[in-house]
Amino acid sequence: MSTVLVVNSGSSSFKYQLIEMATERVVAKGLVERIGEPVGVIKHQNLLSGVEYDEELPIPDHAVGFDTMFQAFRHYGPEHSGLIAVGHRVVHGGATFVDPVLITDEVAAEIEALSVLAPLHNPGAVQGIRAAQHAYPDVPHVAVFDTAYHQTLPPAAYRYAIDRELADAHQVRRYGFHGTSHAFVAAAAAEFLGKDLSELNAIIFHLGNGASVTAVRAGKSVDTSMGMTPLQGLVMGTRSGDIDPAVLFHLHREAGLDVVGLDTLLNKRSGLVGLTGTGDFRDVLSAAAEGSANAAEAIDIVVHRLRHYLGAYFFQLERVDAIVFTAGVGENNALIRARTLAGLERLGIEVDPARNESSERGARRISSDNAEVAALVVPTNEELAIARQAASLVAAAD
Ligand code: AMP
Repeated sequence: MSTVLVVNSGSSSFKYQLIEMATERVVAKGLVERIGEPVGVIKHQNLLSGVEYDEELPIPDHAVGFDTMFQAFRHYGPEHSGLIAVGHRVVHGGATFVDPVLITDEVAAEIEALSVLAPLHNPGAVQGIRAAQHAYPDVPHVAVFDTAYHQTLPPAAYRYAIDRELADAHQVRRYGFHGTSHAFVAAAAAEFLGKDLSELNAIIFHLGNGASVTAVRAGKSVDTSMGMTPLQGLVMGTRSGDIDPAVLFHLHREAGLDVVGLDTLLNKRSGLVGLTGTGDFRDVLSAAAEGSANAAEAIDIVVHRLRHYLGAYFFQLERVDAIVFTAGVGENNALIRARTLAGLERLGIEVDPARNESSERGARRISSDNAEVAALVVPTNEELAIARQAASLVAAAD
């Protein structure tokens, strides 16, 4: 069977899925984590046989991690000799990468160089790429970038209003992220509505642990809430999203926070974690249900920001066919969807409560039949999107 191995590698862990391309089924998946710590762990699942393998062992680096994964496939299956490509998720492709690419030494070096823009993400991706190339030297490796879909943003949306020369010299601009998910969901929403993607105007909310919203005009990304890094925009699990940049100067002067302290504050100790002490949305919901005023206020802040972007993008697009929710919170939480879209009947937006609260899986409509704007839930599948792109690039290169 022809398969693609999809790898999402961070600095101390990586996740993988083996996807059979004929059926687009996940036939194995796993996680290697705590790389570089005294004891690491691998969790491998053969989804064809049901065999699961978990082990704790030292995993000093990504190379040992990929070797451990390779051995897990050998011992616990499934057999993966039909591997046609390894697809790597790469967070930052800068302005260089507008499409998936075959990874050569030059491409790997360029992804590494883009670490200046994504110091939390790209170094881990490059370590994963090099280790995977070592484990699978005879298979093409393809990089799929989270930024690529947003390369169609016009300058008005991507340029920050700061000194032009300084910004250009340091590659400072909006890039946007979650592009693989937004593109996949845009295509799936168009299909659901029976429209050609090139005819779709939509606002897509990817609400997971990281969260972003994209304005799609004629199938293309024309604005998105994340910026030069994934820090800008919506309230996230641990990230602040939008904030007045002068807050940083103030905290530096008055609270003595240095660059590292400010980076940690906004990326790791803000968002839901900063507001409530937990970054998991389900826990915030339970805390609010149990009477926590901080949790209830956090949900209000999340919703306020969601509606802020809904309004902005609704006006920028002028005509909106669909508002789409995806990822962990977007797919599973009826309350957030209902509150984001409440009271907008005059704009053609109307949620049907029973449809919204249905636990049905798959792409589905949550708006009422007479609403002019379709409100949809469309499950995302970034791994499948990466596998498809890797497979088609490899087929085109043959
Ligand atoms: P993701 O990054 O897409 O995996 O999404 C993770 C986020 O989705 C976490 O904040 C979870 O708490 C949230 N999530 C997952 N399932 C649910 C659910 N049933 N209701 C509310 N939030 C959920």
